[in-house]
Amino acid sequence: MPLLESWIADRTRNFDSSGIRKMFDLADKLDDPINLSIGQPDFDVPDPIKSKMIQAVEDGFNGYALTQGIPTLRGKLQEAIDLEYGDPDRKVFVCSGTSGGLFLSALAMINPGDEVIFFDPYFVMYPALVELVGGVPIKLSSYPDFQIDLEALEQAITDRTKMIIVNSPSNPTGVCYSQDVIQQVAELADRKGICLVSDEIYSRFSMDNEHLSPASYNKKTVVIDGFSKTYAMTGWRVAYVHGPSKIIDTMIKIQQYTFVCAPHPAQVASVYAMDFDITPYIDTYRQRRDFMVEELRNYYEFVKPGGAFYLFPKLPWGTGQQFVERAIDNNLMVIPGSIFSDRDTHFRISYAVADEMLERGIKVLKQIAKP
Ligand code: PMP
Repeated sequence: MPLLESWIADRTRNFDSSGIRKMFDLADKLDDPINLSIGQPDFDVPDPIKSKMIQAVEDGFNGYALTQGIPTLRGKLQEAIDLEYGDPDRKVFVCSGTSGGLFLSALAMINPGDEVIFFDPYFVMYPALVELVGGVPIKLSSYPDFQIDLEALEQAITDRTKMIIVNSPSNPTGVCYSQDVIQQVAELADRKGICLVSDEIYSRFSMDNEHLSPASYNKKTVVIDGFSKTYAMTGWRVAYVHGPSKIIDTMIKIQQYTFVCAPHPAQVASVYAMDFDITPYIDTYRQRRDFMVEELRNYYEFVKPGGAFYLFPKLPWGTGQQFVERAIDNNLMVIPGSIFSDRDTHFRISYAVADEMLERGIKVLKQIAKP
């Protein structure tokens, strides 16, 4: 084995990021593409929140923050969580992005050989996350309705099952689990003594119903949520995790020696962001969703999404690669479903774009719906 190759740790070998990188490389080559591939809001951080960030830098909040988060932000989050769950053992800390929270959960709880169940299609990070800590990813299909098949889940649980990861509203499907599914998964995990991790980064992007967390039915659920999508601050890296204090304390201990803290000035601005009303943004996203669903319903087969800002239609013909190439020939970028799945039967559209771009994208999608 060549020397440099031999330096690469085994834990990195079971996953790659070539699919998604290929997409970004392609996007780079297109001149002014109709880009329906992006997983972040199209609105910028609202001005008053930006001002708080600038002011925080000018006021000197530029050094390390306390590992568990600045007291004002952590206190405000804890207050909201206490109000919602009323559980004295539910503790919160601030982490560096939801990705950071997911990584710390994996480091804190997964031993080599432990099985981690999540649902296919899945957020791209999950398989890599589990592999990185030596866990075994168990992908359970949620096709065709993208809900959880409780019987299949129960059957997939073994003596080695350590964790179940759920994500509702979901990336890439936009689907929200029904109240019934959330309750049953929560109770099943509790009954079996398995850790339930709930990735709720799209919690504010629930279009039809109030967001519901499995933590309402299972006190031991570890909830990961963040500010990235809510306030369009994906580059600011502020998120939080709440759950049983024993688990949270372990995650804080690991954060101390890894991420150290979430960016300090961004935490200061996030205290203010928590009071900022984003309802108008969500209303806009709902309108766009309804528009897109209405426009595409006679051209593509899909489950109407209840949240996030994605639609995950079935490929109307060919493979994901063939379909995406045709889209690119027409200056349109969408993502093949195989990036998020063991299947190559769907594709992801993000409608987090300006109305005008969405309209242009829909026009192309209608044109390429037939081979
Ligand atoms: N979970 C899901 C389901 C996501 O879609 C994303 C972002 N694409 C993340 C986590 C990571 O978000 P963050 O910017 O907070 O790390």
